[in-house]
Amino acid sequence: MARSYVSEARRHVGRRRDRIGPIIERLAAEHVDARIALRFRRPLELLVSVMLSAQTTDVNVNKVTATLFEKYRRPEDYIAVPVEELERDIYKTGFFRQKAKAIRGTMRMLLEEFDGEVPRTMEELLRLPGVARKTANVVAAELGNPQGIVVDTHVRRLSQRLGLTREDDPVKIERDLVKIVPRREWGRFPHLLIWHGRRVCIARAPRCEDCVLTDLCPSSRV
Ligand code: SF4
Repeated sequence: MARSYVSEARRHVGRRRDRIGPIIERLAAEHVDARIALRFRRPLELLVSVMLSAQTTDVNVNKVTATLFEKYRRPEDYIAVPVEELERDIYKTGFFRQKAKAIRGTMRMLLEEFDGEVPRTMEELLRLPGVARKTANVVAAELGNPQGIVVDTHVRRLSQRLGLTREDDPVKIERDLVKIVPRREWGRFPHLLIWHGRRVCIARAPRCEDCVLTDLCPSSRV
């Protein structure tokens, strides 16, 4: 019953290829400030922030990195201290042992293979220890070279509600999204969904009455 209601609603709002343009346009007008919430000044800080953001909030990471980045400025700095000291310095982001290990491994590889610079391609980023697909996607996109679409919990939920995918697995969702989202929008698109997900299409109680996408969304309650 519920399924046929959703199929009916999907027919009513039209094909996803036709809806994606207006969806992006309206979200961009609504969330002009939609950008990554992590604070960083250089590529190395971006990479470390994204690595620290696993399993915690961006706000929490920003609190920790405000002092962390004053102390650790170059890849060498993360290796120069005993691992316990780095663990203490990132403790509040949670999973601090795994994160410290991954950061130090990554810094070593940056120095040995990339002249201490953060690489910009997915292929190279994925070689860094502890850098998974999501982290690599975020870093590549923020460095102006998006090579995929970042799928986090908000992107997943909104893509499903908006009928842009029927998948549940982030890799498959990304595969669906890159087919319909224009390449020039790959970097901005996830931020638009993330901000809309935080402000309007909230996980437990979507505020459809305040949403600019009601006529384009098969899950709209209004
Ligand atoms: S109409 Fe409702 S379910 Fe659809 S995107 Fe907007 S808030 Fe979310």
